[in-house]
Amino acid sequence: MLATIAAIREVALARVAAATSSEELEAIRVQYLGKKGELTGVLRGMGKLPPEERPRVGQMANQVREELERALQEAKEDLSRREQAERLRAEAIDVTLPGRPVSRGYRHPLYQTLNEIKAIFMGLGFDVAEGPEVESDYYNFEALNLPKEHPARDMQDSFYITEDVLLRTHTSPVQARVMEARRPQVPIRIIAPGKVYRRDDDATHSPMFFQVEGLLVDKRVTFGELKGTLMAFIKQMFGDQVRVRFRPSYFPFTEPSAEVDMSCVMCGGSGCRVCGHSGWLEILGCGMVHPRVLSMSGYDPEEVSGFAFGLGVDRVAMLKYGVDDLRLFYENDLRFLRQF
Ligand SMILES: [Zn+2]
Repeated sequence: MLATIAAIREVALARVAAATSSEELEAIRVQYLGKKGELTGVLRGMGKLPPEERPRVGQMANQVREELERALQEAKEDLSRREQAERLRAEAIDVTLPGRPVSRGYRHPLYQTLNEIKAIFMGLGFDVAEGPEVESDYYNFEALNLPKEHPARDMQDSFYITEDVLLRTHTSPVQARVMEARRPQVPIRIIAPGKVYRRDDDATHSPMFFQVEGLLVDKRVTFGELKGTLMAFIKQMFGDQVRVRFRPSYFPFTEPSAEVDMSCVMCGGSGCRVCGHSGWLEILGCGMVHPRVLSMSGYDPEEVSGFAFGLGVDRVAMLKYGVDDLRLFYENDLRFLRQF
């Protein structure tokens, strides 16, 4: 009997030691200590033993039961510690790992430039006005002193939708629309930023590009005020060291008209590839509003005068950031765009 108990003990303890899960330990407990368990069976069979053997057998069986219970308990605790440690290792957070980068969106360089232009002119007292990109022939051309068959229309190859409707070739139609809407009130001080369209596509021309139109109409506006306004703008945009010059030019909607150049931002005026070794860069066109444009929009050119200007946002951005190919702005290459 004692030998049976010893054998049970040995096998049971060995199995506990080898167990790898709590389910296995529970199965061992049931097998030896359960109601129908092997050790329980031994204790139950004690009645058949001679009375003098009962105390020794009973004592040993109880010792083995206690030992086995303790071993089971310890194995269970040990196992659960190991399981927890394993779980913690699996779930471990390495706080020294660099985080996943969150990629932030930001403004396109053309919109950055446009916002900067807007901010400067708003600081000079101009409001922002907007007009449609699909425009009638009347506002795009006729109201700006460009009647049908006018040779200057050839300067702006256009995208026509019907004979009388086209994609606007400049932001100047907003001038006519604003004057029509506000006549006879003065002063008018607006800039009109927006997209314009022409049939051009090369390193310095895109079929769609951004312009900012400016218009000021009031009593006794002079060319001197036009010069002062544009010089203030150019110096705020490109810096105080920049020199500005006005060259006589021709636009159908202004008289007199001028092209405005500034000293080359790349070479400072000594001459380089960007400025074609002239030291000057063309930056915008401007002039005094043509009397016919004023009268067509309902203003009396004897009573009021005004100036207008138009500049290409793309060109300003190219000069400001030293970009030599306009198409880079429109190709959506993030390697290029991330530099701004
Ligand atoms: Zn230069």
